[in-house]
Amino acid sequence: MRCHYCEWRCELGAETFGVCKMYFSDGKTISERFPHRWCTFGVSGIESIPFYHVDPGSRCMTIGTSSCNFSCKYCSNAFIAKRDPAEMQQDMLDLSPGELVRTAQKLGCHSIVFNVNEPAVSLNSLHDVAEEARAAGIHMGCLTNGYTTPESTELLASIFSFFNISLKGLSPEFNREYIGIPSPAPILRTIKRLAKIRHVEVATPVIQGVNDHELDEMAGLIAAIDPEIPWHVFRLLPEHEMKDAMYPNIEAINEALVSARSKLFHIYFHNFVGSDWVNTLCPNCGATVVERFSLGCGGDKLQRYLCNDGQCPSCGRGIRMLGDNVVRNRQGAAA
Ligand code: SF4
Repeated sequence: MRCHYCEWRCELGAETFGVCKMYFSDGKTISERFPHRWCTFGVSGIESIPFYHVDPGSRCMTIGTSSCNFSCKYCSNAFIAKRDPAEMQQDMLDLSPGELVRTAQKLGCHSIVFNVNEPAVSLNSLHDVAEEARAAGIHMGCLTNGYTTPESTELLASIFSFFNISLKGLSPEFNREYIGIPSPAPILRTIKRLAKIRHVEVATPVIQGVNDHELDEMAGLIAAIDPEIPWHVFRLLPEHEMKDAMYPNIEAINEALVSARSKLFHIYFHNFVGSDWVNTLCPNCGATVVERFSLGCGGDKLQRYLCNDGQCPSCGRGIRMLGDNVVRNRQGAAA
């Protein structure tokens, strides 16, 4: 039986587990090899994930499983995503959906965010967690590489209400060499579909001299879908097989973003301490409507939230924020 959860569309069998090694099939259904096994659960500020336009200033519970369907040369979570998942099971946590959701409630979390590896490799378990979370009034988000099939993109949308989708590069050469996939077309299709029905932010890790020349084209493609989509461009901090790569030059990357800034309303440039490009500005009058501080790879923090009722305080233009009123009312996040 073929797995339809991502564009590899692997043939599965009782002992044939696919590229991600996370599923098997009896010929009738697709089952997980390691259901409800989590590599971690923790608490984070939502800005650190990063989500800049979801529940500003809130806490989320972060979770992850094992494995991935990509082979990124610079994977920052390779110790989880690139190991054989069978070998990791002795270190995994066995938590039911109810236990996860009750823990999120106890920890004062407004949402649960899957952010360690790729959700497409654990869809069945995540579906169960989403049902429990929905009943408890907690919404779910994820980071994803967006390599889902059209069918499983709908499944993702039934589980998560907000997404940060990674658009890593555009050329087939880049995608083959650095990611291990033939084309980014499925990722662009997923961004387009999910942006219609859910909240979407996009993230791009920049490798200087490798994909920085594509930034303008990427901005144009995202803007053609929706210019309100927030775009997080961040410096790749070399890891995994790219530990020898140079750290991207901040001024050079910012220069490469000048033209892109005329295409998209919200471009952020971060992953270094004290970035000047982490605030949200009103696209109409330029007033600062959300102030943040970048702690580098340690995360980002909300400092001042000024767009009460989702509007710029200077000119009244709407600023797209998912769920901000709920969080400010519950937690009194700063205005
Ligand atoms: S989710 Fe895993 S098994 Fe399914 S198609 Fe993708 S890589 Fe293959």
